[in-house]
Amino acid sequence: PQGAEQHEFSAEVGRLLDLVVHALYSEREIFLRELVANAADASDKRRFEALTDASRALPADASIRIHPDKDARLLTISDNGAGMSRDELARNLGTIARSGTRAFGEKLDAAKPEDRPSLIGQFGVGFYAAFMVADKVDVISRQPGSDEAWQWSSDGKGAYTLAPATRETPGTDIILHIKSDADEFLDAWRLRSIVRKWADHISWPITLREGEEDKPANEGTALWRKSKSDITPEQYTEFYRHVSHQFDEPYATLHWRAEGTTEFTSLLFIPGARPFDFMEQSRESKVHLHVRRMFITDEAELLPAWLRFVQGVVDTEDLPLNVSREMLQSTPVLARIRKAVTKRVMTEIKNRSKDAEQAAGFATFWENFGPIVKEGIWEDSEHRQELAALARFRSTHSDDPTTLDDYIGRMKPDQEAIYYLTGDNAEALAASPQLEGFRARGVEVLLLSDPVDGFWPERLSSYQDKTLKSISQSHGDLEKFEAPAPEGEAADLTALIPALKEALGEAVKDVRGTVRLVGSAVVLTSEGGPDLTMQRLMRRSGQ
Ligand code: ADP
Ligand code: MG
Repeated sequence: PQGAEQHEFSAEVGRLLDLVVHALYSEREIFLRELVANAADASDKRRFEALTDASRALPADASIRIHPDKDARLLTISDNGAGMSRDELARNLGTIARSGTRAFGEKLDAAKPEDRPSLIGQFGVGFYAAFMVADKVDVISRQPGSDEAWQWSSDGKGAYTLAPATRETPGTDIILHIKSDADEFLDAWRLRSIVRKWADHISWPITLREGEEDKPANEGTALWRKSKSDITPEQYTEFYRHVSHQFDEPYATLHWRAEGTTEFTSLLFIPGARPFDFMEQSRESKVHLHVRRMFITDEAELLPAWLRFVQGVVDTEDLPLNVSREMLQSTPVLARIRKAVTKRVMTEIKNRSKDAEQAAGFATFWENFGPIVKEGIWEDSEHRQELAALARFRSTHSDDPTTLDDYIGRMKPDQEAIYYLTGDNAEALAASPQLEGFRARGVEVLLLSDPVDGFWPERLSSYQDKTLKSISQSHGDLEKFEAPAPEGEAADLTALIPALKEALGEAVKDVRGTVRLVGSAVVLTSEGGPDLTMQRLMRRSGQ
């Protein structure tokens, strides 16, 4: 177009584009899901902004329109959403803003070709998926409150152009110049079946142009409002994938309606796999809050941080549609919902932890999210004991993770404490000389190697009246337990200890003989002071 300026994609976008287009080829119909989802997001955004700025209000017939044009070989997806300014077009469609996306690009690059589809499977590839079916994409966008429109155009090969354009009303058109081998995506029947499959639950009306007419293409009923018996497992899974941007099967699906002081409907999922960038994500729960089916925000923190892996929606009638940010922070309605939802998820996890038939599923769940759940033992006094009860730990007893209750069942008759050892790495822990004396006496020790393990044991302090003791702080107890007969003669340490003390000087507090070692000569301990791992973590965080 006239006055077009040429821009280069950032290097990461170029790489990502290339990978997405090639690795996802067999599933390229998902481009439509991505573009419709973006249109819905933009419409949600405008509706939320209109709450505080009436000039941004959506037209009453706001919708998402899909318009195939066989003769011109164009497929257009239009919305009445928040649009993009010139700068936003450049930023959102020309660079990679989200850190997760950046990490994804790097992972994808490093992965073996055969592993790439599954990596991509874990990720919503978004706008760039359009280039799987189009050899050129035009985006024409105008923001509410502005008369200016801009056109972004690219063939997805390293550069894009920006030029002034015209658009009668605010919103966005995504115009795909369909590739010669992608005719099917100009066919109304085919497009309708894709919308049915991927976008039926989108709450905005979606229409499809057939001949001269725009016909409804989605049911638009919020899935969670339907009764359970009317929902197929496939629909649940599809919805889960939509809200979580994951491609696995959910481990647990929780769908219920709460009645009483606060009424709400909730559809929540515990993922079956851990997202690849999970540890880089923020600690806030992203469960979506809806009011009367309308999406309000995913920042209401409807679950505590230690349940942030749970995905889904909560929909209530007890808040006004024009709920403000301030209100979201202070309303007792949300506090009650949080409490109820947390309790329901807790109950589900607890039940599953006790069900012997589901042991394998729970073990996988714990491997995925146990390190997160354990944060709750540290920071949530209300659930601390419950969480400790369902937690699983490695120990010196066997290769299978154990519960604290099972540990207690195996305790020595005169054992009063639950012993544990923390460290950065499970293998190194299992080989630690600190364990020798305990192993020799048949006293079980929990081996804790998650980052949060440096913190929660001190907070929990005791479980079923048994104190938790780090063995790097408490080997004094060992003398209580009968030791195996030593081989050979006891060593004479009278000369060695003063010599070691002198050599080490200020670096250590004391040097002593110990009963805790069997095969090793020396071991470092921290009696009375903080646990050794805790000390390392504190040093790392500058304390
Ligand atoms: P994501 O949707 O996960 O953020 P995408 O690649 O799908 O990633 O889209 C990138 C960004 O481009 C979006 O976050 C949004 O800011 C912008 N965008 C895409 N499509 C539209 C649209 N139809 N209207 C307004 N903004 C859009
Ligand atoms: Mg998107």
